[in-house]
Amino acid sequence: MNKPESGRTDSASPAVSTLPCPRCGQPARWATDNPARPFCSERCKLIDLGAWATESHRIPGDPLPPQDDE
Ligand SMILES: [Zn+2]
Repeated sequence: MNKPESGRTDSASPAVSTLPCPRCGQPARWATDNPARPFCSERCKLIDLGAWATESHRIPGDPLPPQDDE
């Protein structure tokens, strides 16, 4: 009863992993040589930063407390 183990597939995993770009969803290279990470490209990074900069984060200020002035 010999069962030779065959069929093992050793897939060479790439050293550089990728993850979806938070901006466009395309695979972005998660490497140190990718200055735009976690974005896929500098463009997506700039777009995202620009969106943050231009997007007016207007915080609805606290409503003035009712003045109980008699
Ligand atoms: Zn992108």
